[in-house]
Amino acid sequence: MRLAELGEFGLIDRMAALVKPRAGVSLGIGDDAAVLVPGSGLVSLVTADMLVEGIHFSLDWSDPFRLGRKSLAVNLSDIAAMGGVPRFALLSLAIPASTPVEFMDRFIAGFLEQAEQFGVSLVGGDTCASASGLVVSVTLLGEQSPAWVVTRGAACPGDLVCITGTVGDAAVGLELLKGGRRDGESIRRHLDPEPRVALGRALAEAALPTAMIDVSDGLAADLGHILSRSGRGGRLDLDKLPLSPSFLEDCGTVAADPFTLALGGGEDYELLFTLPEAKCAAAFALGNRCGVAVTVIGSVTAGSGLVLTRGDGQEYCPASSGYNHFMP
Ligand code: ADP
Ligand code: MG
Repeated sequence: MRLAELGEFGLIDRMAALVKPRAGVSLGIGDDAAVLVPGSGLVSLVTADMLVEGIHFSLDWSDPFRLGRKSLAVNLSDIAAMGGVPRFALLSLAIPASTPVEFMDRFIAGFLEQAEQFGVSLVGGDTCASASGLVVSVTLLGEQSPAWVVTRGAACPGDLVCITGTVGDAAVGLELLKGGRRDGESIRRHLDPEPRVALGRALAEAALPTAMIDVSDGLAADLGHILSRSGRGGRLDLDKLPLSPSFLEDCGTVAADPFTLALGGGEDYELLFTLPEAKCAAAFALGNRCGVAVTVIGSVTAGSGLVLTRGDGQEYCPASSGYNHFMP
């Protein structure tokens, strides 16, 4: 069956039937607006991210289930970077009328699986036809006590720069996909990123980071966002970057420079944060508890701009400065 036969309201009913009632939602899908109950004493964190066919994903290699998971994951990562707890999602879809209903069923199943995993309720959205490709826009609401919210803006000179997990995997995964490969760890990291929600929250509630961001544009660009927001400079030691064995092997396969992909590739959805050296051991311990490595990769300086060095002190000039829409 095609969507053209099911229609907008048929599709919405089909999705709504899969959504389970959850605490905090006094009225979910079906009315003109959802009615949500805010946690007492908490502030709301609100974020939106759009995935556009041909820009963010290609149906040549994205299966609908993992696309559904990823469309929520990229938003979960933003809430994680604020130290928040994700709660409610709005899902807006522009869908070509020729799309098979089964494709949307798989997409919704993936989205709802991810939502369930992170305790998020789907409370509404919008659905319309698209004259070109598929467009997915997710708005995610989270919450946190105002005292624990972490922004990009308060990194201090002398702070250390830390990153969770490993970087570059998703970027090399995309290169492999373009080359025709369809499986392996790097490809999984590109198609089904794991947002660091538990660790982001734990770091925030332990008052460890002075500034935090999730790595979506690329490590160098995203560290640049923290530094410019904080009015500081920084140094990154490239020899300390956490690079996975599969990443290094795949860089060889696609003949790419590991540093270019690790610094500029983006879509890592790891957390990048700054903190005073005295709090480092506590951050490592929380990483351990969440099963995610935390690695010190640099420091914040009093000046401005980001200096990239190798262990031998040599400066490194990146070939790319991260993803920037509208720019070549
Ligand atoms: P309106 O005409 O008032 O915008 P809609 O007919 O678009 O209402 O939507 C009806 C209900 O279905 C609303 O509660 C809306 O939030 C929900 N809804 C529409 N599209 C989606 C979607 N893609 N995912 C979740 N809920 C949706
Ligand atoms: Mg509508």
